[in-house]
Amino acid sequence: PPSRLPRVGTTIFTVMSALAQEHGAVNLGQGFPDFECDPRLVDAVTQAMQAGHNQYPPMAGVPVLREAVAAKIAALYGHRYDPGSEITITAGATQAILTAILALVHPGDEVIVLEPCYDSYAPNIELAGGRVRRVPLTPGRFRPDFDRIAAALGPRTRAILVNTPHNPSATVWTAGEMQRLADLLRPTNVIVIADEVYEHMVFDGQAHQSVARHAELAARSVIVSSFGKTFHVTGWKVGYAAAPAELMAEFRKVHQFNVFTVNTPVQHALAAYLGDPRPYLDLPDFYARKRDRFRAGLADTGLDLMPSEGSYFQCVGYGGLAAHRARSEAEFCRWLTTEAGVAAIPLSAFYDAGFEQRVVRFCFAKREGTLDAALQRLRTAL
Ligand code: PMP
Ligand code: GLN
Repeated sequence: PPSRLPRVGTTIFTVMSALAQEHGAVNLGQGFPDFECDPRLVDAVTQAMQAGHNQYPPMAGVPVLREAVAAKIAALYGHRYDPGSEITITAGATQAILTAILALVHPGDEVIVLEPCYDSYAPNIELAGGRVRRVPLTPGRFRPDFDRIAAALGPRTRAILVNTPHNPSATVWTAGEMQRLADLLRPTNVIVIADEVYEHMVFDGQAHQSVARHAELAARSVIVSSFGKTFHVTGWKVGYAAAPAELMAEFRKVHQFNVFTVNTPVQHALAAYLGDPRPYLDLPDFYARKRDRFRAGLADTGLDLMPSEGSYFQCVGYGGLAAHRARSEAEFCRWLTTEAGVAAIPLSAFYDAGFEQRVVRFCFAKREGTLDAALQRLRTAL
C-alpha cells in the first residue's frame, strides 16, 4: 500500500548521531545533554517505585504532578490552569504535539508552520489529514513575519504552531511579537499550538513569552513542554500539555487511545522535584555560561555566530569560509563529522526540501570538557 508519509526518511538527528558514533566525533548534533541530571531526581524515582507507584496512573497523569505543573505555570506566567481538566502529562513533547494535532486538526484543515521548524510538525499535520502551510521566518534573522502570517491566514486555517525559544534558530519571541500574534488571531478561530519545550532556557535577562502570559492567546492555545529538556533527562520522555478545558477534552480523547497514560514513578518523582523552583530558575545562567564558552571558542574560526537568545543551540554560518562555502549544509555537516570530528545539524533539515543558506546548528548542552574538545577540533580543522 502507499506510504502514509512518502517523503519521510529517518530523522536527521538519528542519522547524524549514528555518523558521529561511527567516526568517533564529538556529538554536538542531536540536542541532548551529555551530563547527568540531579541525583536527587533519580533518588525520587527509586523512592516512588519503592513506595509502590508502579501501576497505571490516572489517564491524564498523577494529580500531584498536574497540580505542580499548574502551580509552576501560575507562578511564572500568571495563568491558572485547572489540573483536573486543563493539564495532561504526556510521553514527552513529541507525543503532546502529535496528540494535539490529531485531536484538533481535521482532514483538509490548514496548519501554519513557521519555517525553519522542528521536523515532526509537518509529518504530524499530514498524518491528521491536514495541509501544511509554510510561512518563512524573516531570512537570516528568523523573526516572525506578521505580514506573511496574515497573508497565509484563511477560512481553512485551523491552527498555527509557534515555537519559542526556537529550535533551530535559538531566537526568542518578544512580548511585542506575542501581542502582534494575539492581534492577528483575534478575528479568527485559529488555535495556537505553543511548543515551549525550551521555556526555561532564555538568556540575557529576557523573559520567556509563554502564551500563558497573554489571556487572549491562552484561551486558544495548547501549550506543550518537556521535562526532558528542563531536567536533563531527555530519555525519560515525559512532558505535558496545558489548554482550556474544551480543547483539553478533545486532546484527552486522542491521548487515551494513543498512550493512555505515561510512566507512574517518574511522574511522582517529578512532582516532588518541582516543589523546589531553583533547578529550573538556575537554568538560564547554567546554559548561558556554556553558550558563552562555546561562542568564545569559535570567535576566530571564521564561522559567523548568529545570536543565541534561548534554547541550547548555536547556529553558525560558514559562507565566509572559502574552503567550505561550495558545500551544501548536509555536505558540510558530513565533513565536520568525519574530518573535523564534531557533529552538527544542517539547517536545511528544518525546511521543506531544498533550502540552503550555509548555516548549521550546534548543541552546547555538554560538559565543559566536551565543549573544549569540540572547540579544539574545530579550530584545528577550520
Ligand atoms: N519540540 C522541539 C522544538 C524540540 O526541540 C524537541 C526535542 N528535540 C521536542 C519538541 C520533543 O521533545 P521531547 O523530547 O520531550 O519529546
Ligand atoms: N530536539 C532535539 C533536537 O532538535 C532532538 C530530537 C530528536 O532526536 N528527535 O536535536
